[in-house]
Amino acid sequence: MRILVISDIHANLTALEAVIEDAGAVDTVWCLGDLVGYGPDPNESIELVRSLPKLVCLLGNHDAAALGLIDIGSFNHDAQLSALWTQRKLTKENYLFLGNLKQVTYKENVTLTHGSPKNPVWEYIMDTYSATENFKHFSTAICMVGHSHLPISFELNGSGNTVLKTHKPDVQFTASLKNKVILNPGSVGQPRDHDPRASYAIFDDTSLTWTLHRVEYDIAEVQNRITQSGLPTRHAMRLAFGW
Ligand code: ZN
Repeated sequence: MRILVISDIHANLTALEAVIEDAGAVDTVWCLGDLVGYGPDPNESIELVRSLPKLVCLLGNHDAAALGLIDIGSFNHDAQLSALWTQRKLTKENYLFLGNLKQVTYKENVTLTHGSPKNPVWEYIMDTYSATENFKHFSTAICMVGHSHLPISFELNGSGNTVLKTHKPDVQFTASLKNKVILNPGSVGQPRDHDPRASYAIFDDTSLTWTLHRVEYDIAEVQNRITQSGLPTRHAMRLAFGW
């Protein structure tokens, strides 16, 4: 199957539409959470995700914040404002959709979660230390996470060492079932690796290949809508820089 893997859409409908168009025909879509927060289109983004074929979707920390399930005191001030804004905007139907999302799920060889298998909603896997710890917390060959907004991966090699890998867009990486891997598709709606283009991955579950892609979208148009919505201007500014 050709699987579209997306994460951290953050209510950026324009970026999500660009990703879906760029990805072309896929058999199924795996979404690793944070559909909302920061961006101006929470309902439209959720509705588009819900329409995707054979969707598997996980709960992110910003989704939990929009549901009022977690204390947003740990968010920075701007993120708190956008969580409260999103709470006011969500339709009942979309609220219920987010409320039914799981924190962890499994698809054959793959564990899917937002942050980490150890701490699904909150932990960032950004370095080999946290990746090494998390390799003990899943038994499948592959784990896919989002949350850091960084399109990176970690491999537990034959010597038991964790290796951080960065992948160039459009170059296939083939996962080996012998070595465990943690794969992150990057962020659709708010990349943080200094490349402002929307990030996503295509996973082929037969050949076990993972390919990262980047796609341009109309950032200025989204920035305008963020500003007009009364959301913090910082959320608009950072889109242009990819951080
Ligand atoms: Zn996020």
